[in-house]
Amino acid sequence: MPALPDLCRRDLDVLWHPCTQMREHPDVLPLLPVARGEGAWLIGADGRRWLDAVSSWWTNLFGHAEPRIAAAIAQQATTLEHVLLAGFTHEPAVRLAERLLALAPSGLARVFYADNGSAAVEVALKMSFHSHRNRGDTRRTRFVTLRNSYHGETLGALSVGDIPLYRRTYAPLLLEPLFAPSPDAFNALPGEDAEACALRCAEELAALLDAHGDTVCALIIEPLVQCAGGMRMHHPAWLQRARQLCDAHGVHLIADEIAVGFGRTGTMFACEQAGISPDLMCLSKGITGGFMPLAAVLATQAIYDSFLDDSRERAFLHSHSYSGNPLACAAALATLDIFDSDDVLARNAVTAGKLVAHGRHIAQHPKIADFRHTGMILAFELMADPATRTPFPAEDRIGLRIYRAALRHGLVLRPLGDVLYWMPPYCITDEDIAHLATATQAAIQEVLPCA
Ligand code: PMP
Repeated sequence: MPALPDLCRRDLDVLWHPCTQMREHPDVLPLLPVARGEGAWLIGADGRRWLDAVSSWWTNLFGHAEPRIAAAIAQQATTLEHVLLAGFTHEPAVRLAERLLALAPSGLARVFYADNGSAAVEVALKMSFHSHRNRGDTRRTRFVTLRNSYHGETLGALSVGDIPLYRRTYAPLLLEPLFAPSPDAFNALPGEDAEACALRCAEELAALLDAHGDTVCALIIEPLVQCAGGMRMHHPAWLQRARQLCDAHGVHLIADEIAVGFGRTGTMFACEQAGISPDLMCLSKGITGGFMPLAAVLATQAIYDSFLDDSRERAFLHSHSYSGNPLACAAALATLDIFDSDDVLARNAVTAGKLVAHGRHIAQHPKIADFRHTGMILAFELMADPATRTPFPAEDRIGLRIYRAALRHGLVLRPLGDVLYWMPPYCITDEDIAHLATATQAAIQEVLPCA
């Protein structure tokens, strides 16, 4: 075993890493010192290079250290680094709100800033509850969420998630939501297509709302792709039906576009593909191109108006010290400029086509039970026996082994369980795509050899 580099030794003396069983460092899980980033690549302190196929937890859009975003932050830092947003305002916060509202689905009229995705979800849940209450409806105290959903790690956000690994331990502390089935097309019945599957699941949501609708504040969803749940994808028809059902029951629709927003699914926001507008929309991750922590919750005028009153108790008193941080807003504005100047969505459609072509080839591996894609999100579902949908035993840790193998091939894959996925920065070049495909195939082949 080679000696640990100095930085890793110092790290393991003082740091506690997110989403990590620290016991596994460094023997089971390597700890990788990164010196810099360039385009879609991370460059190690020792010169090793890894293609970042997961956009650093789905945050990065246009490459690491993208010069235009870096320059915008540097410029802003010399003018105004931060000011509290209660009672004060500044150009970057206002300009960003104007631009987000111009891009967002119609009907969203106000922007509330937070500084990470989980905080945005907390804001949306509290806003929904409080808005009903302000309108005199105190019976609405529950949320509806989907099976296999993920909305973050703080207690409220975790409450409306359904991934046992994250939720189970904290269950005694959490709100108890009502769960509706995920419209996930992977769970379609034999002979059922994605749309029929979506509509069948929507009828179960209808039944749930018929029974409990008058006690529900909001339905919270990840439109089109349940990302942390294994990149599970559904047909937009489900979103249309969900919107109708929410309207019929006076329930808010919260679209958590934290992972899928900013072009990941092929449109700027996933809701666009169903032609629907949510009552509340949560944004974070790609909002700053992956440079700065920032989140925004967009709300309808009706929700906003329900808080206007002489009473402070009817106001939304939620606050975060770094709300609307000017550096983060400057990064977000530079990110939106790049969407305009580089015709990003059109370019991504071409890039996605190339990724899909490579993905189809890889998907011929006999242990790949499903290959699916929506826009710039592509996923391969690995199973011990695809014919009978038998998963690998969890203790085989196939995903972890492929992660380690991919690193040896200069690629960051970070599977979700046994689901391998690609969600690369949009700047990925043809040469990078070729590397992504070759290294992915080599890593799979190393762990699951086939003739
Ligand atoms: N919602 C969704 C859909 C997410 O994918 C995530 C993060 N993976 C979050 C919320 C939480 O965001 P954060 O990690 O910034 O708290």
